[in-house]
Amino acid sequence: MNVGVLALQGDVPEHLRVVRELVPDTISVRSARDLDSVAALFLPGGESTTIARLIEEMGLWAPLRERIGGGLPILATCAGLILLARDLAPSAFGRDPPTFGVLDVRVRRNDYGTQRESFEAPVRVEGIPGKRFPGVFIRSPRILGVGPDAAPIAWRGEEVVGVRAGPVWGLTFHPELAGDLRVHRKFLTEAGAIL
Ligand code: GLN
Repeated sequence: MNVGVLALQGDVPEHLRVVRELVPDTISVRSARDLDSVAALFLPGGESTTIARLIEEMGLWAPLRERIGGGLPILATCAGLILLARDLAPSAFGRDPPTFGVLDVRVRRNDYGTQRESFEAPVRVEGIPGKRFPGVFIRSPRILGVGPDAAPIAWRGEEVVGVRAGPVWGLTFHPELAGDLRVHRKFLTEAGAIL
């Protein structure tokens, strides 16, 4: 079974490298045809407005929407989460992109400030026992509210930094930059891509 990383913009190489440690033949997804062949998909971090524009240029809104509607497992980080959110609160820094609206969260882009305000903090992730997960936050969105169709799965202190709606996960931090495979492993195990 194929696993894919949406490879339009952002930290695609980092994501591919980490996912390939667990599923060696993971592919880059750039077209509807690539998308057809995957049974789980990663939406990497990057610049959500740019990724949204490239999704438009590649004609991927409808195919992605269809696969999401069909229950495709997705792990979306940072900009990926923004692109899935149902509700974007206007950001103080920059425009807001169109979104798929499938994760019932209210999110604000760049809500921790500019690039300089990027930081690392320990995160508790549901179903991942042992030491706290190293949360890498890079000009992250903030989850302002979680609606009834999504459930929190990750916390930085009291603050929700990850949610899921069935097989669709959205995180404000970057597990692909943490040097810790536990989040990817849990997602891919649930998706049936690894044992
Ligand atoms: N600030 C970016 C955006 O709003 C997200 C940052 C990231 O993905 N690391 O799209």
